[in-house]
Amino acid sequence: MEEKAYDSYIRAGEIAKQVMQEGLEKIRDGEELLNVADYIENKINELGGKPAFPVNISINDIAAHYSPTAWDESVFSEGDMVKLDIGVQINGYIADMAKTKVIGSSDDNELMMAAEEALKCAIDIIKPGVKTNEIGEVVETAIKEFNLKPIENLTGHKLDRFSLHGGITIPNIRTRHGDTIYEGDVFAIEPFSTSGFGKVVEKQEAIIFKYMKDRPMRTREARILLNYVKKNFSSLPFAERWVAKLMPRHRLYIALRQLSYAGALYTYRILREKERAKVAQAEHTVIITGEGCEVITG
Ligand code: MN
Ligand code: MN
Repeated sequence: MEEKAYDSYIRAGEIAKQVMQEGLEKIRDGEELLNVADYIENKINELGGKPAFPVNISINDIAAHYSPTAWDESVFSEGDMVKLDIGVQINGYIADMAKTKVIGSSDDNELMMAAEEALKCAIDIIKPGVKTNEIGEVVETAIKEFNLKPIENLTGHKLDRFSLHGGITIPNIRTRHGDTIYEGDVFAIEPFSTSGFGKVVEKQEAIIFKYMKDRPMRTREARILLNYVKKNFSSLPFAERWVAKLMPRHRLYIALRQLSYAGALYTYRILREKERAKVAQAEHTVIITGEGCEVITG
């Protein structure tokens, strides 16, 4: 890996670690989700990075893709299982990191420990020549030791410059086929554990989107919005919150739906556990080295 890329990854990882710690401390009973998201994203910018995607704050049976809206009034409550998922990019080099916090004391900590342990086991074996399905098997085994299930349709992923999904995934279950891992590759490994069915389903609602392609749009608002997100976020995801100042709320809502329907935007629908059971997540970004890996977010 080139020195500039490596240095950018290391710095992105340091920023992610710092804002993760500060963000987790802010997550308390009665605190607003919006405050925490704004704080983290502002801090990333202050520290010289950029958010690689909107801060995901997913609670209890919501596994991923929730990010507060500009008008969000929701607050954290005692007992909530909160997944904080943060992405930082520098020069397009991305550090992707997630942790779970249970507000107050709770027996649900087993879920958290299972995801953390599975992540640790995956990091222990990842190196050049290992196949992605071998990692999936290790993750599944580690979570089942806790009598819990991995979420089978969520995966880790290769990271490329300005791209969150570099084509290769790391499953959280044993699979028949796998891709070989090479030195210099960068991966986000992210086991999810649950006491439920072990699968996520999509909710209708989406708050996070990504520019896909230009499409001829009939309304002025849709054209303005599409130009704006293409110019400002390009290939990386953005939140409704990040474009809230462009137009009144109801017009923004309509424009986002029109653009999604036209295929101009990719829609990240909110993901919840199939049986509405709680979900925990742990995630680190690693650079594959000759002998193993370097955890840039650890
Ligand atoms: Mn993540
Ligand atoms: Mn990820």
